[in-house]
Parts: sequence; C-alpha cells; structure tokens
Amino acid sequence: MSAVSLKLNKMHFPVSTLGPGKRMGVWFNGCSIHCEGCISRDTWEFSESSQIELSAVIEVLEGWLPQADGLTISGGEPFDQAEALGELLAWFERRGGEREVLVYSGYEFPVLRKRHGGVLEKIDALVSGPYEVNSGQSKRWWGSDNQQLHLLSERARILYAGVEEGDEAQRKLDVFEQDGQWWFAGVPRSEDWLRVHGMLEQKGVSAKFSHVE
Ligand code: SF4
Repeated sequence: MSAVSLKLNKMHFPVSTLGPGKRMGVWFNGCSIHCEGCISRDTWEFSESSQIELSAVIEVLEGWLPQADGLTISGGEPFDQAEALGELLAWFERRGGEREVLVYSGYEFPVLRKRHGGVLEKIDALVSGPYEVNSGQSKRWWGSDNQQLHLLSERARILYAGVEEGDEAQRKLDVFEQDGQWWFAGVPRSEDWLRVHGMLEQKGVSAKFSHVE
C-alpha cells in the first residue's frame, strides 16, 4: 500500500452533476488560487486535521467502483497536492477499466503541462482555469465560460462530445448529507444560490453558504 497521504475535504457516491453518469467524487482540501466568487471556499484551507492516508481513500473508492461510471476529482485545487493526485490517478488507471476520470483545476493548461505533464497523462478530461465571477455561466459541468475543457483521451472525446455547448436544461444539483452537514455538488449559477437560500429561509431553515459573506 502507498504511504502517500492527502488533505481530503470529502468523498461521495453517486455524484450525477460533475461529468457523465453516476460518479465517484473526491474533493481535495486546500487551494492557493482563491478565485473571487468561488463557491467552494470551505475547501481553501490546507488543514492538517483533514490529512488522510491515500490507501484509506482508495479503500472507499474500491467499494464504490463496481457501481460507478467514472471518477471526478475536484477541490480545492487537486494540483496543489500533485503527488497524491498522481498516485490516486495511477490507482484509477490500474483499476478503473473503461471508466474515465474528470479533473478540475484552477490553473491554466500551459502551467499544468509545464509542471505536471506526467499527471496529465493519466487524465481523460480536464477543466482548467480559474473561476471568473464576471464570465458567462452557460456550461452544465463547469462554473464559468472562460474555463476550458480538454479532452485528453479518445474515451473522453467520445463521451464528452457536445458538452461544450451551453445547456441550461441540464443544470442540476446533487444534495447529500455527510457527518451531519448537507452538501451541494454541481455547478449552480450565482442566482441559483440566492434562490436556494430564499427557498430554505421560507421553510424556516437557516443555511450558511461558504462563499456568501
Ligand atoms: S474555483 Fe477552484 S481554483 Fe478557484 S478558488 Fe475555488 S477551489 Fe480554488
């Protein structure tokens, strides 16, 4: 077993809003990019308390793998923990079969290619670039229209054909509970959050969103 560890924010299965099919989701903790308007501010801290052996993460993923269509890795900024990311992807390369992996990064593609070319070789689909709060928000699987989808394998080129077109009808959120907290997974527009916030308040539910001051 690998001795590599990572700072982990959360894991979930099934995730249906970040890539095709029913997916295993892994969110890394820690991001050094700090985009204005980021909806994942709860993942920014590189908190020591979130450190976990990669082998423990893989054990959970092994349990989900038979029912899963693919793997999504987000954060936080996964490439800020490039060694752990590379090891996780190496496991998926060995065990994932025909499934594909989608990774989100706030770094621009040329930066990733220069610093982490070996890691990129293990990725099927990559969304790169920082979230820009004033950019358009027309994509169902990523947050702002300045971000770019890179289809790095033939499998991804087939599976993700056409997703770069905006598709408002496909926009949705997964809601799940973990350790007494409720989480949303997906790509909401800014106004969607305000609507959800208003709806919850009408029901007498007090909600705190990590990106809302
Ligand atoms: S959008 Fe991604 S890269 Fe940007 S601050 Fe949030 S977690 Fe970091």
